[in-house]
Amino acid sequence: MKTILASFVAIVALAWGVDMLSPAHLSTGSGLWALRQEGLYLTGLLSISLMSLAMVLATRPVWLERPFGGMDRIYRLHKWSGILAVTFAALHWLVEMSDDLLKALVGRGGRIKEGTSAFAEPIRDLGEELGEWAIYVLLGLLALTLWKRFSYRLWRPLHRAMPVLYLVLAFHSVVLAPADYWSQPIGLLLALLLTAGSIASVQSLTGRIGRKRRVTGSVVALNNPGSDIIEVSCHLDGKWQGHRPGQFAFVTFDAAEGAHPFTIASADHGDRSVTFAIKALGDYTRTLTGKLSVGSPVEVEGPYGRFDISRVNKRARQIWIAGGIGITPFLAWLETLQDEPASGLCADLHYSVRDAKTDPFVKRLQSLCAALPDVRLHVHDRHNGPLTAEALAKEQQDRKGVEVWFCGPRGYADALREGLQAFSGRIRFHQEAFEMR
Ligand SMILES: Cc1cc2nc3c(=O)[nH]c(=O)nc-3n(C[C@H](O)[C@H](O)[C@H](O)COP(=O)(O)OP(=O)(O)OC[C@H]3O[C@@H](n4cnc5c(N)ncnc54)[C@H](O)[C@@H]3O)c2cc1C
Repeated sequence: MKTILASFVAIVALAWGVDMLSPAHLSTGSGLWALRQEGLYLTGLLSISLMSLAMVLATRPVWLERPFGGMDRIYRLHKWSGILAVTFAALHWLVEMSDDLLKALVGRGGRIKEGTSAFAEPIRDLGEELGEWAIYVLLGLLALTLWKRFSYRLWRPLHRAMPVLYLVLAFHSVVLAPADYWSQPIGLLLALLLTAGSIASVQSLTGRIGRKRRVTGSVVALNNPGSDIIEVSCHLDGKWQGHRPGQFAFVTFDAAEGAHPFTIASADHGDRSVTFAIKALGDYTRTLTGKLSVGSPVEVEGPYGRFDISRVNKRARQIWIAGGIGITPFLAWLETLQDEPASGLCADLHYSVRDAKTDPFVKRLQSLCAALPDVRLHVHDRHNGPLTAEALAKEQQDRKGVEVWFCGPRGYADALREGLQAFSGRIRFHQEAFEMR
């Protein structure tokens, strides 16, 4: 993710640099004023470019799943490009506000007359004012996004205003971009990004994101394997194309609440049935048991994701690790493997739970693994101690290729990944992120 973002920022900065050095460049100021002017343009360009990227990524582009490694990673990239965009917007605002300071420091000598396009002159003030207000709103939204205690339920409708803010800032950028940009590579890049971002914004505002992948259905069975877990089996209508084991979907049981992402915890039997195992982790999931009944309608959008058993490298030693409800993709994997127990896959499945005796999934896992001679189940709980990177690395010491597939809390993943890297660089670590904000 860091490489993608760094490359994107580098391309925009390069295009800006090409314009700076070109004879068509219109900046006429000198000294600190020239520096301020170019700083203003660069921060503005980086901000709107990253915002365009964030907007495009918000449309759930399935074609980017393969290069980017899955929809959960696309969402993380969306989040970080958004955060960086607002950071550059804040810098842009600070540079803009330095006007009075520079006047006091070096006087008006060398001050630049900004060369916007002729068509934009009459609406320049409007563009400036709208841009300034949009930045204040953006900063407020960023603060709420980073403040994890702010309820997701309240945050989501606020976040839905982003496409409107984007369109305002796109207008600000077109009106205030220097005239010479439009005959330079930077102008072409900006036009492409603004067009893509604007199309994405309209898609979002008109509710078209993911529409083609949405199917309806109904709840056909409910089960409570544990006090805080509900298993919901659904039958979907004819448009459902099936799923690969390990994929997830956006599930809507209640239109007013909207969609929540859940892994499809069952194999694809070709009969358009899917089961979700849902843990009561927050406001909404805590109320599900009381709200759902057999026959309740459901809308499922998907499938998405690349935490997919078909991507497992059969020649590599497989380490599968699940923390708590992160077991759901592995349930789908194990169920799928029941039809081909001699698939040649050798795996150790490590399942970390609070208490193995009361856990709702341990018995099921034992029975699924009993039919798979090459999959060994290890359950870790407070009685036998946690799974550590050190213990894992020791087991893998003499092995050539090792692949880790992890699904569970982020902190646990980070600790294991860092620990394993310290022991050996040969381990490939795949992770499904259960957090989108
Ligand atoms: C790819 C993926 C697969 C998942 N699979 C499962 C699963 O199989 N079983 C399971 O129990 N949980 C799963 N989750 C987590 C599940 O989506 C959240 O626990 C649930 O949405 C929490 O909703 P809440 O309103 O009860 O909790 P809240 O307290 O409101 O939210 C807790 C956190 O859940 C996330 N979240 C909440 N609502 C949404 C939403 N509408 N869209 C996206 N994220 C949201 C946010 O990160 C939020 O901070 C998965 C998450 C992801 C991203």
